[in-house]
Amino acid sequence: MKGIILGCGSSAGVPNLYKQYGNCDPKNPKNNRCRTALLLEKEGFHLLFDTPPEIRLELKNAGFPPIHSLVFTHLHADHTAGINDLKAFADEKPLPVYLNAADEDNFHRRFYYLISDDKEMDKYSHGFNLNPVYPMQEIKIGPFTLLPLLQKHGEGQSLGFRIDNFAYSTDLNAMQDDTFEALKGIDTWVLGCVSVKENNKHLYLAKALQWIDIIRPRRVYLTHMGTTMDYATLCKELPPHVRPGYDGMTFDV
Ligand SMILES: [Zn+2]
Repeated sequence: MKGIILGCGSSAGVPNLYKQYGNCDPKNPKNNRCRTALLLEKEGFHLLFDTPPEIRLELKNAGFPPIHSLVFTHLHADHTAGINDLKAFADEKPLPVYLNAADEDNFHRRFYYLISDDKEMDKYSHGFNLNPVYPMQEIKIGPFTLLPLLQKHGEGQSLGFRIDNFAYSTDLNAMQDDTFEALKGIDTWVLGCVSVKENNKHLYLAKALQWIDIIRPRRVYLTHMGTTMDYATLCKELPPHVRPGYDGMTFDV
């Protein structure tokens, strides 16, 4: 299985309109971060996690891979705002979309015009075919088997996913005990960590490192990073098995 961190920026991206680059060195291109998305590829099947506002450019930078299925971690705007562009992958049949069953009503309200049975669907796309998923209930998507993991994300919730010995956990600040248990034994972990400073919706560095000590994966790539997370500083200060991600970073699992 191959992974690409398509984008690793926090909700406003880096640079953003609040603090521009903040503590990040503007001269280091690895500090330019589009909003967070991940692509996994196995046996020619491409599974995309989330559709941030820059997804069109992120997929262009990845060489225009065809997308065969789409998974949402949750429905915040920084993970959904590029959703219309994915209609391009539904020209012959509806694109399968997987999301937390708890988010299904919200999705229908906001994106009714993209669902395949909607009468307004235009002739260029079959739209999306929704598949609700439930925490701790395994699902098969193409060659992948995913275990959805419930995460606390501020007042809301999000889903993380374990896929064989890999896990993707973004937009979370707490997990239940059974989620921790389910992550044990992973080799590679792409983990959302928004800042050096404390945060009540996301993991921050000190807490992320505590969790990494508990789960003990062989290697961790941080994602969903904001303007306090300078690439070179993190490379210097973090233990060698924990690395900041960057847009376009690839890895094999
Ligand atoms: Zn979020």
